[in-house]
Amino acid sequence: MTDRPQERETRQRQVVLEELRKVSCHPTAPELYELVRKRLPKISLGTVYRNLERLSQRGTIRKLVLGGTETRFDGDLDVHDHVRCAECGRVDDVENLPKKIPDPAPDMAAGYTILGHRLEYFGLCPSCQQKRRKKRGKEERGDGKEH
Ligand SMILES: [Zn+2]
Ligand SMILES: [Zn+2]
Repeated sequence: MTDRPQERETRQRQVVLEELRKVSCHPTAPELYELVRKRLPKISLGTVYRNLERLSQRGTIRKLVLGGTETRFDGDLDVHDHVRCAECGRVDDVENLPKKIPDPAPDMAAGYTILGHRLEYFGLCPSCQQKRRKKRGKEERGDGKEH
């Protein structure tokens, strides 16, 4: 137990980081907040946001700026690409892609020196595929009324 603000902040940041590394779902700040709150019931959403920002500025975690509208966070710093569900916005890792897309030479890239690239796949996640199949099945059977 500690009451010193500095120690409390360190502890909060630690828990935010631990919870983020535990999950593979690339949570948004509010999603992570729900997890962190189970261990630190008094923490606020604003504090979780602040810690995520600070950790990503330091390069301890990755902030994912993808095609979706929400900012998501990734505790896995290894280079990897992502696939996003176009329906529900869930984000997963893409495993074992063949290495690697060559960087374009400066004369191909408007004179830029290339520092990296961002690749995002999008598709339908397994649960959205299932939902669609169910919906289609229902339409085919022609029974809009199921009660
Ligand atoms: Zn989905
Ligand atoms: Zn990832």
